[in-house]
Amino acid sequence: MKNLLFILFLLVMENSVFAQFSQEPLPYAFDALEPSIDKATMEIHYGKHHKAYVDNLNKAVAGTPQEKISLLDLQKSVTAQTPAAIRNNGGGVWNHTFYFNGMAPNAGGEPKGALGEAIKAGWGSFDHFKDEFKKAALGRFGSGWVWLTVVNGKLVIHSTPNQDNPLMQISEVKGTPVLSLDVWEHAYYLKYQNKRADYADAYWNVVNWKLANELYSKAVK
Ligand code: MN
Repeated sequence: MKNLLFILFLLVMENSVFAQFSQEPLPYAFDALEPSIDKATMEIHYGKHHKAYVDNLNKAVAGTPQEKISLLDLQKSVTAQTPAAIRNNGGGVWNHTFYFNGMAPNAGGEPKGALGEAIKAGWGSFDHFKDEFKKAALGRFGSGWVWLTVVNGKLVIHSTPNQDNPLMQISEVKGTPVLSLDVWEHAYYLKYQNKRADYADAYWNVVNWKLANELYSKAVK
Protein backbone atom coordinates (compact mmCIF):
# COMPACT_ATOMS: atom_id res chain seq x y z
CA MET A 1 0.00 0.00 0.00
CA LYS A 2 2.81 2.34 0.95
CA ASN A 3 4.65 1.55 -2.30
CA LEU A 4 1.55 2.06 -4.36
CA LEU A 5 1.03 5.48 -2.84
CA PHE A 6 4.64 6.39 -3.57
CA ILE A 7 4.33 5.29 -7.20
CA LEU A 8 1.17 7.34 -7.50
CA PHE A 9 3.00 10.31 -6.00
CA LEU A 10 5.83 9.95 -8.54
CA LEU A 11 3.34 9.77 -11.40
CA VAL A 12 1.60 12.91 -10.21
CA MET A 13 4.94 14.71 -9.81
CA GLU A 14 6.01 13.76 -13.30
CA ASN A 15 2.85 14.96 -14.95
CA SER A 16 2.15 18.14 -13.05
CA VAL A 17 3.09 21.58 -14.12
CA PHE A 18 3.63 23.51 -10.93
CA ALA A 19 1.77 26.75 -11.26
CA GLN A 20 4.57 29.08 -10.23
CA PHE A 21 3.00 31.98 -12.10
CA SER A 22 -0.75 32.56 -11.93
CA GLN A 23 -3.16 34.74 -13.87
CA GLU A 24 -4.17 37.83 -11.95
CA PRO A 25 -7.92 38.47 -11.94
CA LEU A 26 -9.26 41.00 -14.43
CA PRO A 27 -9.96 44.14 -12.33
CA TYR A 28 -13.38 44.72 -13.98
CA ALA A 29 -16.15 42.84 -15.84
CA PHE A 30 -15.59 41.76 -19.45
CA ASP A 31 -18.10 44.34 -20.69
CA ALA A 32 -16.92 47.17 -18.39
CA LEU A 33 -14.94 48.98 -21.10
CA GLU A 34 -17.73 48.92 -23.70
CA PRO A 35 -18.03 50.42 -26.25
CA SER A 36 -14.32 51.30 -26.54
CA ILE A 37 -13.16 47.73 -25.87
CA ASP A 38 -15.91 45.22 -26.58
CA LYS A 39 -16.92 42.33 -24.34
CA ALA A 40 -16.06 39.53 -26.80
CA THR A 41 -12.54 40.87 -27.29
CA MET A 42 -11.99 41.09 -23.52
CA GLU A 43 -13.30 37.55 -22.98
CA ILE A 44 -10.92 36.07 -25.55
CA HIS A 45 -8.01 38.39 -24.74
CA TYR A 46 -8.08 37.62 -21.01
CA GLY A 47 -9.62 34.13 -21.03
CA LYS A 48 -7.65 32.62 -23.91
CA HIS A 49 -4.59 34.70 -24.87
CA HIS A 50 -3.49 35.85 -21.41
CA LYS A 51 -4.24 32.44 -19.90
CA ALA A 52 -2.19 30.71 -22.60
CA TYR A 53 0.82 32.92 -21.82
CA VAL A 54 0.55 31.95 -18.13
CA ASP A 55 0.23 28.22 -18.91
CA ASN A 56 3.07 28.27 -21.43
CA LEU A 57 5.33 30.28 -19.11
CA ASN A 58 4.82 27.72 -16.35
CA LYS A 59 5.78 24.95 -18.78
CA ALA A 60 8.81 26.92 -20.01
CA VAL A 61 10.25 27.66 -16.54
CA ALA A 62 9.63 24.22 -15.04
CA GLY A 63 12.96 22.95 -13.72
CA THR A 64 14.87 26.16 -14.56
CA PRO A 65 16.22 28.84 -12.15
CA GLN A 66 13.54 31.23 -13.47
CA GLU A 67 10.93 29.07 -11.75
CA LYS A 68 11.82 30.62 -8.41
CA ILE A 69 11.91 34.35 -9.20
CA SER A 70 9.13 36.92 -9.31
CA LEU A 71 7.43 37.87 -12.57
CA LEU A 72 8.96 41.36 -12.35
CA ASP A 73 12.48 40.01 -11.77
CA LEU A 74 11.91 37.62 -14.66
CA GLN A 75 11.31 40.60 -17.00
CA LYS A 76 14.45 42.36 -15.77
CA SER A 77 16.51 39.21 -16.30
CA VAL A 78 15.71 38.87 -20.00
CA THR A 79 18.76 39.06 -22.26
CA ALA A 80 19.41 37.90 -25.82
CA GLN A 81 20.42 34.54 -24.33
CA THR A 82 17.08 33.94 -22.57
CA PRO A 83 15.14 31.06 -24.14
CA ALA A 84 12.46 32.41 -26.49
CA ALA A 85 9.66 30.56 -24.69
CA ILE A 86 10.53 32.31 -21.39
CA ARG A 87 11.07 35.74 -22.98
CA ASN A 88 7.85 35.61 -25.04
CA ASN A 89 5.51 33.99 -22.54
CA GLY A 90 6.93 35.86 -19.54
CA GLY A 91 6.50 39.11 -21.42
CA GLY A 92 3.03 38.00 -22.47
CA VAL A 93 1.99 37.47 -18.86
CA TRP A 94 3.47 40.69 -17.48
CA ASN A 95 2.46 42.93 -20.42
CA HIS A 96 -1.18 41.86 -20.37
CA THR A 97 -1.56 42.26 -16.61
CA PHE A 98 -0.08 45.75 -16.98
CA TYR A 99 -2.31 46.61 -19.97
CA PHE A 100 -5.54 45.31 -18.40
CA ASN A 101 -4.86 47.26 -15.20
CA GLY A 102 -3.94 50.29 -17.27
CA MET A 103 -7.56 50.61 -18.38
CA ALA A 104 -10.66 51.14 -16.24
CA PRO A 105 -14.36 51.87 -16.45
CA ASN A 106 -15.28 55.54 -15.94
CA ALA A 107 -11.74 56.54 -16.82
CA GLY A 108 -10.04 58.24 -19.76
CA GLY A 109 -10.19 61.92 -20.65
CA GLU A 110 -7.39 64.43 -20.13
CA PRO A 111 -4.41 63.44 -18.00
CA LYS A 112 -4.20 65.32 -14.70
CA GLY A 113 -1.70 65.67 -11.90
CA ALA A 114 2.06 65.42 -12.26
CA LEU A 115 1.80 63.13 -15.29
CA GLY A 116 -0.56 65.57 -17.05
CA GLU A 117 1.95 68.37 -16.43
CA ALA A 118 4.86 66.26 -17.68
CA ILE A 119 2.95 65.33 -20.87
CA LYS A 120 2.20 69.01 -21.55
CA ALA A 121 5.82 69.93 -20.86
CA GLY A 122 7.13 67.17 -23.12
CA TRP A 123 4.73 67.39 -26.06
CA GLY A 124 3.17 70.85 -25.82
CA SER A 125 -0.39 69.52 -25.61
CA PHE A 126 -2.31 66.32 -24.94
CA ASP A 127 -3.46 66.32 -28.60
CA HIS A 128 0.12 66.37 -29.84
CA PHE A 129 1.05 63.64 -27.37
CA LYS A 130 -1.84 61.49 -28.68
CA ASP A 131 -0.66 62.04 -32.28
CA GLU A 132 2.82 60.82 -31.40
CA PHE A 133 1.45 57.84 -29.49
CA LYS A 134 -0.73 56.89 -32.47
CA LYS A 135 2.23 57.25 -34.80
CA ALA A 136 4.11 54.72 -32.68
CA ALA A 137 1.08 52.39 -32.72
CA LEU A 138 0.77 52.54 -36.51
CA GLY A 139 4.53 52.38 -37.00
CA ARG A 140 4.90 49.05 -35.22
CA PHE A 141 4.94 46.55 -38.10
CA GLY A 142 3.22 43.30 -37.14
CA SER A 143 2.65 42.59 -33.46
CA GLY A 144 3.88 44.50 -30.46
CA TRP A 145 3.25 47.19 -27.90
CA VAL A 146 3.39 50.96 -27.50
CA TRP A 147 4.67 52.31 -24.20
CA LEU A 148 4.92 55.53 -22.29
CA THR A 149 8.06 54.94 -20.26
CA VAL A 150 10.06 56.95 -17.75
CA VAL A 151 13.72 56.91 -18.80
CA ASN A 152 16.09 58.76 -16.45
CA GLY A 153 13.21 60.88 -15.17
CA LYS A 154 11.90 61.76 -18.67
CA LEU A 155 8.84 60.43 -20.49
CA VAL A 156 9.44 58.58 -23.76
CA ILE A 157 6.93 57.12 -26.25
CA HIS A 158 8.30 53.99 -27.89
CA SER A 159 7.28 50.56 -29.10
CA THR A 160 8.53 47.00 -28.69
CA PRO A 161 8.05 43.96 -30.93
CA ASN A 162 6.20 40.78 -29.93
CA GLN A 163 5.95 40.52 -26.11
CA ASP A 164 9.09 42.50 -25.28
CA ASN A 165 8.83 45.36 -22.78
CA PRO A 166 11.03 48.21 -21.48
CA LEU A 167 11.97 46.27 -18.32
CA MET A 168 13.91 43.76 -20.39
CA GLN A 169 17.64 44.19 -20.94
CA ILE A 170 17.19 43.55 -24.68
CA SER A 171 14.77 46.50 -25.06
CA GLU A 172 16.00 49.41 -27.20
CA VAL A 173 14.42 51.81 -24.69
CA LYS A 174 14.79 50.70 -21.07
CA GLY A 175 12.94 52.25 -18.16
CA THR A 176 9.79 52.17 -16.04
CA PRO A 177 6.55 51.95 -18.06
CA VAL A 178 3.55 53.99 -16.91
CA LEU A 179 1.07 52.96 -19.61
CA SER A 180 0.84 50.64 -22.61
CA LEU A 181 -1.21 49.79 -25.66
CA ASP A 182 -1.39 46.26 -27.02
CA VAL A 183 -1.22 46.54 -30.82
CA TRP A 184 -1.45 42.83 -31.60
CA GLU A 185 -4.43 42.28 -33.93
CA HIS A 186 -6.09 40.05 -31.28
CA ALA A 187 -6.44 43.19 -29.11
CA TYR A 188 -8.75 44.96 -31.56
CA TYR A 189 -9.63 42.91 -34.66
CA LEU A 190 -13.13 41.73 -33.65
CA LYS A 191 -14.41 45.27 -33.26
CA TYR A 192 -12.07 47.42 -35.31
CA GLN A 193 -10.89 44.91 -37.96
CA ASN A 194 -7.91 46.49 -39.74
CA LYS A 195 -8.46 49.95 -38.23
CA ARG A 196 -5.70 50.03 -35.62
CA ALA A 197 -5.87 53.84 -35.59
CA ASP A 198 -9.52 53.80 -34.40
CA TYR A 199 -8.60 51.39 -31.61
CA ALA A 200 -5.70 53.63 -30.61
CA ASP A 201 -8.10 56.61 -30.48
CA ALA A 202 -10.64 54.68 -28.36
CA TYR A 203 -7.94 53.76 -25.83
CA TRP A 204 -8.01 57.33 -24.48
CA ASN A 205 -11.64 56.79 -23.38
CA VAL A 206 -10.62 54.07 -20.96
CA VAL A 207 -6.99 54.76 -20.03
CA ASN A 208 -6.46 54.53 -16.26
CA TRP A 209 -4.76 57.88 -15.58
CA LYS A 210 -5.01 57.31 -11.85
CA LEU A 211 -2.70 54.28 -12.02
CA ALA A 212 -0.45 55.90 -14.63
CA ASN A 213 -0.02 58.91 -12.33
CA GLU A 214 0.91 56.69 -9.38
CA LEU A 215 3.47 54.81 -11.48
CA TYR A 216 4.86 58.07 -12.84
CA SER A 217 5.27 59.63 -9.39
CA LYS A 218 7.03 56.52 -8.13
CA ALA A 219 9.35 56.41 -11.15
CA VAL A 220 10.50 60.04 -10.90
CA LYS A 221 10.94 60.10 -7.11
MN1 MN B 1 -2.70 40.85 -26.28
